[in-house]
Amino acid sequence: MNKKKHHLNFGSAFDYAPAPETTPVDLKKQYELFINGEFVAPESGRYFNSTNPATGKQLSRIAKAEASDVDLAVKSARRAYEKVWGPMAPSERGKYLFRIARLIQEKSRELAILESMDGGKPIKESRDIDLPLVAAHFFYYAGWADKLTFAFPGRAPSPIGVAAQVIPWNFPLLMAAWKMAPALACGNTVVIKPAETTSITAMHLAEIFQEADLPAGVVNIITGAGDTGTALVEHDGIDKIAFTGSTDVGKKIAQSVAGSTKKLTLELGGKAANIVFDDAPIEQAVEGVINGIYFNQGHVCCAGSRLLVQESIHDDFVERLTRRLATLRVGDPLDKNTDVGAINSKAQLKRIKALIETGKDEGAELHESSCAIPDDGFWCRPSFFTGVTPSHRIAREEIFGPVLSILTFRTPAEAVTLANDTCYGLSAGVWTDKGSKIFSIADQLKAGVIWANTFNRFDPTSPFGGYKESGFGREGGLQGLAAYLKQDHC
Ligand code: NAP
Ligand code: MG
Repeated sequence: MNKKKHHLNFGSAFDYAPAPETTPVDLKKQYELFINGEFVAPESGRYFNSTNPATGKQLSRIAKAEASDVDLAVKSARRAYEKVWGPMAPSERGKYLFRIARLIQEKSRELAILESMDGGKPIKESRDIDLPLVAAHFFYYAGWADKLTFAFPGRAPSPIGVAAQVIPWNFPLLMAAWKMAPALACGNTVVIKPAETTSITAMHLAEIFQEADLPAGVVNIITGAGDTGTALVEHDGIDKIAFTGSTDVGKKIAQSVAGSTKKLTLELGGKAANIVFDDAPIEQAVEGVINGIYFNQGHVCCAGSRLLVQESIHDDFVERLTRRLATLRVGDPLDKNTDVGAINSKAQLKRIKALIETGKDEGAELHESSCAIPDDGFWCRPSFFTGVTPSHRIAREEIFGPVLSILTFRTPAEAVTLANDTCYGLSAGVWTDKGSKIFSIADQLKAGVIWANTFNRFDPTSPFGGYKESGFGREGGLQGLAAYLKQDHC
């Protein structure tokens, strides 16, 4: 068995003085539930800790919602739906959403810092990617609120009712915006559960809702772990479930709604192929591959976690990738120079490490950056595996960390076969100089989103969602509205 492990060191990357983000933030010692427009303590009086993954230290205490709290939240959403938000003129709803979008913009610096503290992602990502997209989603869907009949000609679109939304920890605020903005624009009310490890920014969003005078009960935020999520999705008082998370939990939810009238959309896992042909602009492709997997510590469902590189350029590509990897700066998420932040939780780090060991045991070769990493907190050096075959677990399972699996192909047909050889189908990338090849390959890939000569680009106007075990339903764009509307014929 090949257990070789290479440490890569190409001399020094440039050394920068630390450049920490210094905007003051209002981090609270304790966060309550947000039900019916107010912050309320959980009925059980129970709280759990939220940790800063970059230090391993406690940041705050978060209320744990039990079934009785979930029930209050759902009833509050129902009342708001029937009495206020449902009957409200769509143009008025739009005004609230515009107001929320503007407030998010105003507070985006503080929200970005809190997002990085609680989740571990580098400030340059939370500040320059997540937060602008959060505001953009509210702006985009605010614009649709009074134009729904134009979105679906010949139909009479009407809201579904109370939406239960459960989101993961990798893009806490962005996932909240993806879910809430279209739901609210269509006239639904919301009960949302953030992930246990990243609930803080959702509660700051609740403060923004208060400041925007959003009517009580239109959005309710309940915090807790998986059992809180189960209590929410199994509640009889909800009409629609929108879930983003793992395929395993998605399957459980699908089973639990079988036989009910609840509508369901699922955004689940992925194992995207990033395909690089020998005629690709090579440096651009290296940068795209780096962005595709090391971005956000690889905590990205649509990450380009499988690199399929044409055999003739494999060695050159690996050499360039190695050089680039050595320049990535891993460390303090609040430092503006940081490229790769902390792994979101101890449990996630353990899962990543276990799969790295499996990769080595199965005979693939690990190439790891030799960068220094902090002593405390949860860290994983960016790395990649060569010598990977399609049957290796690291080629089939989501690692959800900064670890790339590299496979080779000889012909376009082989690239397509390898790319589609997965139970997932969320995203893919194609790198080539030839436009016709882009269209031909994209046509054959079974993935919901396909990037050409770029990777991990998001836009509120663009639908996002998966094939196969990556789920069903689309979020974003016009298609994202459909998931929150009944569309009777006129
Ligand atoms: P997860 O365990 O499925 O958790 C997702 C959310 O569901 C969390 O809020 C979680 O709560 C909650 N939850 C857990 N068990 C539940 C249950 N039985 N019933 C209802 N809710 C439950 O996923 P994760 O490990 O946090 O997130 C990573 C996964 O999400 C990856 O597989 C990734 O690919 C996927 N993801 C997909 C997309 C997409 O758009 N397709 C986007 C981002 C992430 P707690 O966290 O509090 O336990
Ligand atoms: Mg945390």
